[in-house]
Amino acid sequence: MKAPTPRDPKRSALMSRVRQRGTATELEVAVILRNLGYAYRLNVKSLPGSPDFANRKRKWAIFVNGCFWHHHSGCRQATIPKTNKRFWRDKFLTNRQRDAKAIRTLRSAGFRVAIVWACKAKDDLTLTNRLSKLLESRRIYVPKTIDH
Ligand SMILES: [Zn+2]
Repeated sequence: MKAPTPRDPKRSALMSRVRQRGTATELEVAVILRNLGYAYRLNVKSLPGSPDFANRKRKWAIFVNGCFWHHHSGCRQATIPKTNKRFWRDKFLTNRQRDAKAIRTLRSAGFRVAIVWACKAKDDLTLTNRLSKLLESRRIYVPKTIDH
């Protein structure tokens, strides 16, 4: 399924902003991982859901999720475009189900998994603490919900 070409210039401006924000978050996570001294691979296509950062040997994976595309629940950036509402609703539902399935599969294979939402990545210190806890923990990290 392909996204319809946005005709509304405001809408396409919003989308490119959303995409850029996702990239900025990825960069932030990359810097944190490097500072913490953790080796990783980017966009690991051989793992379920192609995690943005992962280390197969150490069994951890990090997904950096843009709030719009992954439809972060309760987030103000998780809007539904007014045109083609039904298409977007279906798309977001599919995205969320695919994300959840990938996480379940990784966890059942013994991976520790973190989801970094773009809107929650503003605070470097909190993010650093969270990631270092995840990477140093030998236990399997099980967040209460996917949306935190
Ligand atoms: Zn969000």
